[in-house]
Amino acid sequence: MTTTRFAPSPTGYIHIGNLRTALMNYMIARKAGGTFILRLDDTDPERSKQEYADAIQEDLEWLGLTWDRVERQSDRLDRYMAAADSLRDKGRFYEGFETPVELDLKRKKQLNMGKPPVYDRAALALSEDEKAALRAERSPHWRFKLDQERINWTDGVLGDISIDAASVSDPVLIRGDGQVLYTLASVVDDTDMGVTHVVRGSDHVTNTATQIQIMAALGHGHPEFAHHSLLTGPQGEALSKRLGTLALRDLRAAGVEPMALLSLMARLGSSQPVEMHLSLDELIDGFDISNFGSAPTKFDADDLKPLTARALAAMPFDKMADDIAALGVPGDIAPQFWEVVKGNIATRGEMADWWSLMRDGASATVAEEDAAFITEAFGLLPEPPYGPDAWATWTSAVKEATGRKGRGLFMPLRHAVTGRSHGPEMAELMPLLQTKPQA
Ligand code: GLU
Repeated sequence: MTTTRFAPSPTGYIHIGNLRTALMNYMIARKAGGTFILRLDDTDPERSKQEYADAIQEDLEWLGLTWDRVERQSDRLDRYMAAADSLRDKGRFYEGFETPVELDLKRKKQLNMGKPPVYDRAALALSEDEKAALRAERSPHWRFKLDQERINWTDGVLGDISIDAASVSDPVLIRGDGQVLYTLASVVDDTDMGVTHVVRGSDHVTNTATQIQIMAALGHGHPEFAHHSLLTGPQGEALSKRLGTLALRDLRAAGVEPMALLSLMARLGSSQPVEMHLSLDELIDGFDISNFGSAPTKFDADDLKPLTARALAAMPFDKMADDIAALGVPGDIAPQFWEVVKGNIATRGEMADWWSLMRDGASATVAEEDAAFITEAFGLLPEPPYGPDAWATWTSAVKEATGRKGRGLFMPLRHAVTGRSHGPEMAELMPLLQTKPQA
């Protein structure tokens, strides 16, 4: 059965880059009728916070990306230790004693000599006595001993990949302080949980090579891998530093609609056009990871604005009923309110502006040359409630009384009633006015 997972570390809020990963894994699972796991990679007890774990779930729920179950790596430490024992038994796990500072120095020396900064395996040359002496001083970290051969796989996005394990450092799987690192935990989880497809960012390609070997050393095959390109800003600039400001919760607070965000991110970087889709099911139907390219993908948060306006214009009333009720719009006019407003808002928050003008009237500044006209026109306006013909009846009366017509008639009236020069059809808006407009 197709099983995928989204595996964020609860060390911060999830952002637009994480969303791409989450969405692709979600769509693969849903399209196949499989299982989508939310896995919290929380083996770092200092940086992982419950508050972030909650926030991740809240953000995914906002988007409707439902998961079948949650797994926490901190609940599975015994499984990782068992895998570590097995690797040790197989001669594929060894202790290193270098401090981070020593390792850093080694890397710098290699780089100075024009060599790739690959761990030199000095720890493998230590005698038992030397190791015993070092153990008395410090606790070792543990590395997986790579087989120095080429590691090959066919990537769902990148195609055939071949990485020479000799060009990669033996990965540290357990730190000196005993903390299990992501690589080991991820390998064990993906195997134990029967994960069939792993989609993640192309910054994980080297990890994948080592993970394939670790899985093999533990006696397992590996899932299908696909590495999507990383996002850049609109000019191709690195987005990594700005991702903090592109957290999903900030986009939500800015009024971005879930379907606008999903419609963009489910297609951006693929050969398919970005179109407004009204449901996740539509996005899932048309999704195929092989349509995605390996080139960095430009992301422009401004693209979310027109999509959000379109998502709102297409939104059925029942999905907005709660928000509309919360504004205080009476239930009997709420559906009509939505019909009139939905094509005239950039965010759902802007509904409040329309409601306040309907309820209380607008504060419009009337141009000097229109002042007498508006006073006369408003004198011809009866008290609400207004019917569907109110606008036609009123404007004909004003036309007759003042001789104005066309734009010179309609625009000043629209402006005086709404305080704006654009908006819904006045004939549709008038019946929603709760108070008589005041000049
Ligand atoms: N916690 C890892 C990350 O967020 C997961 C990577 C993976 O999907 O394996 O980068």
